[in-house]
Amino acid sequence: MLPIIYSDEFLEHQTGRYHPEKPERLSAVVTALKTADFAQKIHWLTPTPVKQELMSWIETAHTAIYIEKLKHIATTGGGYLDGDTPVSPRSYDVALLAVSAWLDGVNEVLSRENPAFVLARPPGHHAESNTGMGFCLFSNAAIAALYALQQPGINRVAILDWDVHHGNGTQAIVESYPEIAYCSLHQYPAYPGTGRASEQGFYKNVLNLPLPPGSDISVYQPLWQYKILPFLNNFHADLLIVSAGYDALEADPLASIFLQPEDFGLFTQYCLGVTRKILFGLEGGYELLSLSKSVISTVQACL
Ligand SMILES: [Zn+2]
Repeated sequence: MLPIIYSDEFLEHQTGRYHPEKPERLSAVVTALKTADFAQKIHWLTPTPVKQELMSWIETAHTAIYIEKLKHIATTGGGYLDGDTPVSPRSYDVALLAVSAWLDGVNEVLSRENPAFVLARPPGHHAESNTGMGFCLFSNAAIAALYALQQPGINRVAILDWDVHHGNGTQAIVESYPEIAYCSLHQYPAYPGTGRASEQGFYKNVLNLPLPPGSDISVYQPLWQYKILPFLNNFHADLLIVSAGYDALEADPLASIFLQPEDFGLFTQYCLGVTRKILFGLEGGYELLSLSKSVISTVQACL
């Protein structure tokens, strides 16, 4: 069985008709999972409703000023954090529920010592402590890591970010914690412009692997063998969080990396070789068919 945490409420973060980060992304993935031949092996969970206590976890990663600003924009009819990042009237509440889902995912993984998948939006890895950006409102993966560190017996957490964009927000929030490792594979140069190999965190706890446009699995494979797996194995994390974006696919309109859906099954197997305590959480991925196929590959490898 694989727990997947999902709510139809995640569809209520509206980004406008022409925005790539649209509710249909989740609907496509849910439909694909429900009609897959392993569908009966998925345990669908609804996220814990937002409680006051959740705010204190969000405040470990974000300033009170930013949280208030986001709430204000949403409750006064919506607006934009930047040109790419719309906030609709329901976006604040939906973003809170997404964080709740990621924390539920941590609890699932730690209690079962097996993988779980959070199928939520908005995504999070570009959101910095004092502002959302790049389609992201709250830094879901960073908050989940900081939350996990407060759970009994959890001393070290690793985050692997295979979204095609560098997770500037996640890195900025976690790089000052020696108990958190962050590894990102991303197209470079590309949005948001960060993620040079020379960015190594305060404790050499950050590994950035910038990839030239046009890279395919033949470029990724040696990086797994010689960089990513040694980095993760040496860190001995009690939990691995995967910022699972699927925009490094050849079919994706937002980047120029040429991965295929089945490559994510391979990446998942590599991660499972490090630990079974893995929380996968959706980040980007904008071509609906290949996105769905890639989530299927990830889930199938876990089963
Ligand atoms: Zn991305």
